[in-house]
Amino acid sequence: MPRPILATIHPDALRHNLERVRQAVPDAKLWAVIKANAYGHGIERVFDALRGADGFALLDLAEAERVRQLGWRGPILLIEGAFEARDLELCSRLGLWHVVHCDEQIDWLAAHKTQVGHRVFLKMNSGMNRLGFAPGSYRSAWARLNALTQVDEISFISHFSDADGPRGIAHQLSVFHTATQDLPGERSLCNSAATLALAQDSQVRCDWVRPGIVLYGSAPDYPLHTAQDWALQPAMTLSTRVIAVQHLQAGETVGYGSTFTAEAPMTIGVVACGYADGYPRSCGTGTPVLVNGQRTRVLGRVSMDMLTVDLTPVEGAGMGSEVTLWGRASNGALLSIDEVAQAGGTLGYELMCAVAPRVTMVVA
Ligand code: PLP
Repeated sequence: MPRPILATIHPDALRHNLERVRQAVPDAKLWAVIKANAYGHGIERVFDALRGADGFALLDLAEAERVRQLGWRGPILLIEGAFEARDLELCSRLGLWHVVHCDEQIDWLAAHKTQVGHRVFLKMNSGMNRLGFAPGSYRSAWARLNALTQVDEISFISHFSDADGPRGIAHQLSVFHTATQDLPGERSLCNSAATLALAQDSQVRCDWVRPGIVLYGSAPDYPLHTAQDWALQPAMTLSTRVIAVQHLQAGETVGYGSTFTAEAPMTIGVVACGYADGYPRSCGTGTPVLVNGQRTRVLGRVSMDMLTVDLTPVEGAGMGSEVTLWGRASNGALLSIDEVAQAGGTLGYELMCAVAPRVTMVVA
């Protein structure tokens, strides 16, 4: 028998979430962001469910090749552009759109005299201070690109740092639109948070949106809103089983460091999931978990291959009981990845990307 831990990908949920985004921004084209191996879900596992998108945005050439091999002939965007000059050859061959965020990437394009047909998204650093040209040098970068015969089409892109936070987007929005005023071409600004909450405004929505996390069923602005508030469905369930049961007396402790002490007699389940499976070690005592679809909590520290849960309040629980770390239990009960992540001081993004290769992943 293989170890019972399993990550299940739900195509119905992916389809539903994509449709949910379509409803939010019916006038916009949609890059489905599938970088980081589709946020840990696996590009090949999500592709069919997400092929209703207008394009796929991803990180590197290896991911782009995989999408082409799956038969996708539509737009693919390299969201950070080329990492070195020779990437441009494959960009051309695969017909990719690519971000240009620095002078070196323009130099590489200019040096490739034989290559034509490049479609680029010129990136502006409108305030995040990660990638992109400063507003003051943006027009000269555009003029350089526009003069290259290698470049067929120039679009405009920037990324919000606080679409889900108190600083908001007003400053970046104004910087972006001022600097791109009168420049001909399509525009793209919105990640998931902006797409759901702010894109009713056409200045925010622009031509293309770039949702990622929302497709996988996690709320981009948790805990302000939950996935259920946004009518999203979890695209991944991480589940396992109880592999041992212990009965504790009051005063006995659980796990490494003896961080949890039983105040009364209780029953605990030892579960086949640990931090080597990608479950965060920071998700200790109190982190919610479902056993047989009933809500209970983690007790003590998470160890490499196991964690322990409180079985005392769970009716009928014992050896072999189903444990849902996040996602959808067999009885339909839901546990949001955002809630689990918050208990561990992190985000749903990190949890879904961190599921370890040793966890078998299947499509439902
Ligand atoms: N656009 C860019 C440039 C990104 O880097 C990302 C993700 O980090 C996204 C869009 C998608 O963001 P989210 O997953 O929050 O929708």
